[in-house]
Amino acid sequence: MIKFNRFKDGKAFVLTMSYDDGRTADRRLVEIFNKYGIKGTFHLNSGFLGVNDHINADEVKSLYEGHEVSCHSAHHPFLTQLPDISVMHEVLEDRKTLEKLCGYVVRGMSYPYGVYSDKVIELIKTCGIVYNRKVASTMGYQLPTNFMTWEPTCHHNACLDAAKPFMAKVDADAKAQPLLFYVCGHSYEFNDNDNWELIEEFCKTVGGRDNVWYATNIEIYDYVMAQRNLHIAADESIIHNPSRIDVWLTRESDVVKIPAGETVYF
Ligand SMILES: [Zn+2]
Repeated sequence: MIKFNRFKDGKAFVLTMSYDDGRTADRRLVEIFNKYGIKGTFHLNSGFLGVNDHINADEVKSLYEGHEVSCHSAHHPFLTQLPDISVMHEVLEDRKTLEKLCGYVVRGMSYPYGVYSDKVIELIKTCGIVYNRKVASTMGYQLPTNFMTWEPTCHHNACLDAAKPFMAKVDADAKAQPLLFYVCGHSYEFNDNDNWELIEEFCKTVGGRDNVWYATNIEIYDYVMAQRNLHIAADESIIHNPSRIDVWLTRESDVVKIPAGETVYF
């Protein structure tokens, strides 16, 4: 029997961080992530770059190098209050500006204020966005069933509590169930609450583990899609990977790699 229960390099654990609004405190946060080899996704409002406490346009590319730059709408409105065309402008304008600054295609987003509707989801998907993060926490470690309403494990205020059961599995290398640990927040909250030691301690606790994949939001989305899009023979004796991403899975009790673009015969 084949099971989709492994992430990149056959690992069963993945951690991702997700930060909104692009404030200047991101500079300190990125430094901490880099120190511990942790990857983050930064959801930016392109219409506010260089304004007040927001980071400058000309530092977007270098500051977030190695992490992911993602949309958060151009001007942070309640998207459910806007005419359809304005929702699309908010997303497309954000994408265009961020893509010009970063030099890559921006396909992710988080909802401003965590607010959305079925109509908003439909409009945003039309604008080329493939995943979108909500605010409500699950305190769980499951992969999302719908990437357009991706629920985080927790806000960073609860990250040390949420790290305990996750790290217990990591320490035991207990791979029965693949676990996704997803933390979200705003970097300026560490200034407001004077608690930078919280994120420093968290990163120290969860960072640097060989059996954890440290990934951006879009890397997880792309990996899961590559896995779901494998071509599998009816008797599971042939697996073809049409994607550009190597995929791992388990077959009976073996961990098997299905290389990008290749066909594996059993
Ligand atoms: Zn926001």
